[in-house]
Amino acid sequence: MYDGDVVVIGGGYAGVRLARRLDGTARVTLVDRKEVFFHRVASLRAGVHPAWTHTPFIPYDRLLRHGRLVTGKAVGIDTAERQVVLATGERLPYDVVVIATGADYPEPARFTGTTAEEAATSFAEHQRDVATAEHVLVVGGGPGGVELSAEIRLARPDARVTLAHSGSALLDSAGNARPGRKALAWLESHDVEVLLDSFMSPGTDFGTYRDARGTVVEADLSFWATGTTPNTLWLRLAGHGDWLNAAGRVKVDRTLRVEGRLDVFAVGDVNDVSELKVTPAALAQADTTAHNIRTYLQSPGRHRKDPRLYRPIRRTPLIVPFGSADGLTVLPVPGGESAVLGSRTTTLAKAKSLMTPYMRRQLGYTAA
Ligand SMILES: Cc1cc2nc3c(=O)[nH]c(=O)nc-3n(C[C@H](O)[C@H](O)[C@H](O)COP(=O)(O)OP(=O)(O)OC[C@H]3O[C@@H](n4cnc5c(N)ncnc54)[C@H](O)[C@@H]3O)c2cc1C
Repeated sequence: MYDGDVVVIGGGYAGVRLARRLDGTARVTLVDRKEVFFHRVASLRAGVHPAWTHTPFIPYDRLLRHGRLVTGKAVGIDTAERQVVLATGERLPYDVVVIATGADYPEPARFTGTTAEEAATSFAEHQRDVATAEHVLVVGGGPGGVELSAEIRLARPDARVTLAHSGSALLDSAGNARPGRKALAWLESHDVEVLLDSFMSPGTDFGTYRDARGTVVEADLSFWATGTTPNTLWLRLAGHGDWLNAAGRVKVDRTLRVEGRLDVFAVGDVNDVSELKVTPAALAQADTTAHNIRTYLQSPGRHRKDPRLYRPIRRTPLIVPFGSADGLTVLPVPGGESAVLGSRTTTLAKAKSLMTPYMRRQLGYTAA
């Protein structure tokens, strides 16, 4: 009844969606280096609030009915033998392989170790650091930096909190200036010091930071929300550097295949599709890829059906919580300037639960 072996490397938002879509049609093996799904969207609050320590970790055990899960780190893809190679030396045969290894984010939005307990220990450490710091510096005024500064301020009304951003306005990728102004007004009214046009780097002394003009900030704790690195070093080390672009992202064609390869796909944050690297994009790419894999496996011969071409997402809402009961939502309006909605919409859409019930349901669990 099964059409072939599909190995999905990476059980993040894209990998989980894809594995579930193909479960039952193909023999699916989902490989991840950690034991549980990491709901990264909830990670900033988990880095600050003890009550959220365990929220981002959702077991994989209810995800697949037919397929299997393998905990292990992929270190290579043997295209001649059609096998994924794990760090343990184990080899997983495939008819189709999907690279869904995402990107690495700075602390606290990271999963360190393999088990939920190991990751929880690192979150508890961040919480302790935040609870005892006198001055916290957050670097990066995009959605993550703004959200984290707000969480820290609300958890530590007595601490000094500074947000430094290299650009001249916060949330400068939002497409218009209003969301950035709103975020600045909220932060300043909550006594967060916001430094704009400040490209920070660590200073020479421990606990000092310096911007490009030489201004020195002393802080006993810092978090960097300054972008991501695709998880593709393992591909480079395995001799597939030619699959990557200069930024280290996997180059894909419009069917989301690695250029020139019929049986290797790449989805989500890891690939070079030019769009905002956000969850809705990862999910939409997984859906297109599931269709294309089914088509490929069901008609491998000369009469192959046409694949579906992926259309990058141009408009997606940007939701930035300021704690659990406030924030802003930028809603793109076709042909016009985006609408910026306030605390009611943002609280319902994201701020209160950080989309945890939605992700729990995706993994086969109840919302709570
Ligand atoms: C703080 C924060 C908040 C965010 N909030 C939002 C939001 O509100 N809305 C939104 O749309 N987007 C949000 N994002 C972006 C979103 O998290 C990413 O777009 C999303 O995680 C991409 O999913 P992915 O499946 O491509 O990668 P990931 O979710 O990163 O998953 C990749 C998986 O691959 C595994 N892996 C990596 N290397 C290997 C290997 N060699 N072998 C085996 N497994 C491996 C990892 O363990 C991981 O499970 C947020 C990001 C951050 C940091």
